[in-house]
This record gives sequence, structure tokens and C-alpha cells, in this order.
Amino acid sequence: ERRRLARSWHGPAQTKDGHAVEILANIQDRAGAERAEESQASGIGLFRTELGFLNTPTEPSVEEQVKLYSSVFQCFPGAKIVVRTLDAGSDKPVAFASVPNEENPALGVRGLRTSGIDQGLLTRQIEALVEASNEHDGPNWIMAPMVSTVAEARWFASLVRTHGIKAGIMIEVPSAAILIDKFLEEIDFVSIGTNDLTQYVMAADRGNANLATYTDNWQPAVLTLIHGIAQAGLRHGKPVGVCGEAAADPNLAAVLIGMGVTSLSMAPSAIPYVGSRLDSVTFDQCRRAADAVLGASDPAEARYLALAVLNESH
Ligand code: PEP
Ligand code: MG
Repeated sequence: ERRRLARSWHGPAQTKDGHAVEILANIQDRAGAERAEESQASGIGLFRTELGFLNTPTEPSVEEQVKLYSSVFQCFPGAKIVVRTLDAGSDKPVAFASVPNEENPALGVRGLRTSGIDQGLLTRQIEALVEASNEHDGPNWIMAPMVSTVAEARWFASLVRTHGIKAGIMIEVPSAAILIDKFLEEIDFVSIGTNDLTQYVMAADRGNANLATYTDNWQPAVLTLIHGIAQAGLRHGKPVGVCGEAAADPNLAAVLIGMGVTSLSMAPSAIPYVGSRLDSVTFDQCRRAADAVLGASDPAEARYLALAVLNESH
């Protein structure tokens, strides 16, 4: 039944009562961008730029980077494209950007922290993004991963805004979720990376199958933080997206929209499932489901409470 509904779904995404929802795609290369186009995504919410850096012993030149970025931007001229700067380290080791033999790489030099060691890596990447963007009516949204201090956010924003581009950060570290109002004063938008945020809130490795009950996307501690971030975004009038796996769970997607999240970004293959689920519920149901999960003590209860509201038929 889910499959049948997904097959017949067509965008743009909205709830049953016509509340528009921005659905974007997570991609890492041209092939992904093409799948995103077919999936009816209205743009790209997470361009993971690691690809150009992962399997090469040396840093790709600015020209090489421009080629990769251009090949993606061509697919979505004029659309919203959110590019994430290099997220090296931990589960994404990059030969020339990672500190070898860290004892706790997930808590080590990763994401934006890499710039503390080699700032040129980031400034050259931004240079390549600006060049590709100018050629292709490309993106005006760039965000940094693994930001944990307000000073980092301020510094990143100053680098990106010089080029007339909107500066954002991913919210993946509890410190950024807790001090969200201070971060929102420094930047133009945020995108919640629920994979890492859950890992750090629950102190459970996202890749460890033995810990899957801890890293469940419905953990109420994480949902409570997401709610706080979404509400802060509304207060500041700044977009709050979700680009982690949580956004690809159709029922949870409805809950996130009810919390005030303004866009959802996911693998292209998940888009019709999320789109058709949103089509089946009203915005008021989303809001009530969001309120309901905030009273849960564990993931099973959160799911149960949300589904009780989302499955009401009218
Ligand atoms: C996340 O952490 O949720 C995220 C979207 O980034 P990545 O999975 O690439 O770490
Ligand atoms: Mg992440």
C-alpha cells in the first residue's frame, strides 16, 4: 500500500490541507543530482562534497573541484542548493586532512575543525564553489559541518558572506542545539544532522549495530532538542532544515513539520514515501503529533503517540 501510494505521488509536497513542505535531496555527485531531479525534489538540501576528497592522496585542485560542483549545479539551475563544506574525519577519513591515530576520532578533528589545522583547504573549496556557482546560476547557500562553538559559526559566516552567499551550519553537536539562539544570531540558516546529533546526544556510535536502540531516530531527547531548534528558527525568522536520516522516515517527517522545521532533505529514493505520507495528514495532525512525542520517555512511546494522531482518519 505504501509503495502504491508512493508510486502515484507527485510533487510539490504538501499536507492534505495544502500546507506546503519543502522537500530536498541529499546527494554527493552528478549521478545523485540526476536521481534527485527525477525524484521531484525542489532542490538539494545536502550536497556532501566529501566525494572529491575521499579517495585521493592529495587535495583536488580548485579546477578539479569546480568541475565536480558544476556538474551538480547544472542539474538544478536557479534552485535551492545547500552545499556542505568538507566533512573530513571520523567516519569520513581524508588522507591529507585528517589527524592520524586519534584515540576518539568522532570527538576529534573533524568537519569544520579541520580548518584549525589547514585553513587553506576550506578557503580553496569556497573559492571553487563560488566559481562554479557563478558559471551555473548555482547555489547561494553554504554550510559547515560539526560546528560546536559560536565563534566557529561567526568565523565561517564571515568567510562565506563576503561572496554574497548565505552562511549556515549543521546542528550536529549538542552544544549548538543548546545554545541555538546565540548561533542563529551569527548565521542565516541551520540544518539539523540527526545522524551525528543523535550519536552525540546518546553517546552511542552511529555505525555500531549493537547500539541501534540508542541511535533510534525517535529518541525523545533528540526530538526535544529538534523542537527547541525549530522554535528558535521561527523566532529568528531563519530556516531550519533536517537533513539526517530522521527526515526520511515518513511518520517522523510529519512530526518534524509539526515542530516547525521548514525543510526536509533526504535520499532521493525516500522522497515519494515521505511526500505521499504528508499528503495523507493535515498540518494540525502534524502539530498535535509533534506535541505528543514531547511527552514520551522512549522511542517506542514516541512512535505510538505520534501514530495515534497521524492515523486518525477524517
Ligand atoms: C548527519 O550527521 O545527520 C548528516 C546529515 O551528515 P552525515 O550523515 O554526512 O554525517
Ligand atoms: Mg554529520
